[in-house]
Amino acid sequence: QSTNKKILITGGAGFIGSHVVRLFVNKYPDYHITNLDALTYAGNLENLYDIEGKPNYNFIKGDITDVAFIDELFKREQFDGIIHLAAESHVDRSITDPLAFVRTNILGTVNLLNASKSNWQNNTQGKRFYHISTDEVYGSLGDSGYFTEKTAYDPNSPYSASKAGSDHFVRAYGETYKLPFVISNCSNNYGPCQFPEKLIPLFIHNIINNEPLPVYGDGNYTRDWLYVVDHAEAIDLVFHKGENTQTYNIGGFNEWKNIDLVRLLCTLMDERLNRNQGESEKLINFVKDRPGHDLRYAIDANKIHKELGWSPTVTFEEGLEKTIDWYLSNPKWLDHVTSGAYQDYYIKQYQQD
Ligand code: NAD
Repeated sequence: QSTNKKILITGGAGFIGSHVVRLFVNKYPDYHITNLDALTYAGNLENLYDIEGKPNYNFIKGDITDVAFIDELFKREQFDGIIHLAAESHVDRSITDPLAFVRTNILGTVNLLNASKSNWQNNTQGKRFYHISTDEVYGSLGDSGYFTEKTAYDPNSPYSASKAGSDHFVRAYGETYKLPFVISNCSNNYGPCQFPEKLIPLFIHNIINNEPLPVYGDGNYTRDWLYVVDHAEAIDLVFHKGENTQTYNIGGFNEWKNIDLVRLLCTLMDERLNRNQGESEKLINFVKDRPGHDLRYAIDANKIHKELGWSPTVTFEEGLEKTIDWYLSNPKWLDHVTSGAYQDYYIKQYQQD
């Protein structure tokens, strides 16, 4: 393992990115980790208060679509590796504002690729561009079958189309310019610090506040769920041990129909909040389906398991318990993100003068 590696992690103030930043900063004291994030509504430095001030870590506020800024940053810092997570990530938002997704997910990724290419042109030894992507690029499955790394792309939402586009650009830069890259496509993540627009934290928040739980359609949509720390560990492994030009699918071997997941969450929350069993379930409210809604996603994660030895370590029950515990013990975090107050945190921490 080389020392003094300079790693850029984009989107490190977001949900998954913050877990990846924490893992790398704590596990690799010899590396220098730069977290670059625009701090959109989804980016929150409160996710990382525990590693602020560590000597191997720094945060930079900036937009990955800003050509001059990214070019200057890459020239100055001479990164060895990029772990690229910055993205617009919420499917519902992509339906109302697709261009925001094209801008960050496609233009932003190409801008980072260009900066990597021009910096590494003479020497790509030990360098790596790692794109973090989603299983949603593969489209939808019927009742059986799994997405493998060979499944053809078939995205259905503006979000998944933008992630598919960025995956294609990364692969094309590998072919055309010999840029060393890896890609991983992961299923739905859950865990601490997830913005409460996504299903699990939204429903925890609504159950706490006795608000309706909006379930799309008949609730039969099926997703595979993975605890976010397991994903961060897979990212560490792929970054260090994955083979250039390869894709790795990452999943939890853990499929749930939405309605069953919501019922399980209600049961766990009733126990935790000392409510009568069945009380939270009364909040379930079936709502009009999302357009282009994919019926089922399921990941075949055998390649990363066989080639890199990765398996998820946290069971769904444990992961949900940890997640619920975290949200119940961090009411301020929830208040701040739902009120937008975490923006003030940035100003307090980083713009005191
Ligand atoms: P998130 O929305 O929580 O975080 C995204 C981060 O990117 C935020 O901190 C935001 O401020 C930052 N960002 C957005 N636009 C930016 C820009 N123009 N410049 C710089 N920073 C910008 O997302 P997440 O759920 O943590 O997802 C991270 C990555 O993982 C995404 O690429 C997503 O597609 C992928 N992914 C997510 C899941 C999931 O279940 N959440 C599953 C598979 C893959």
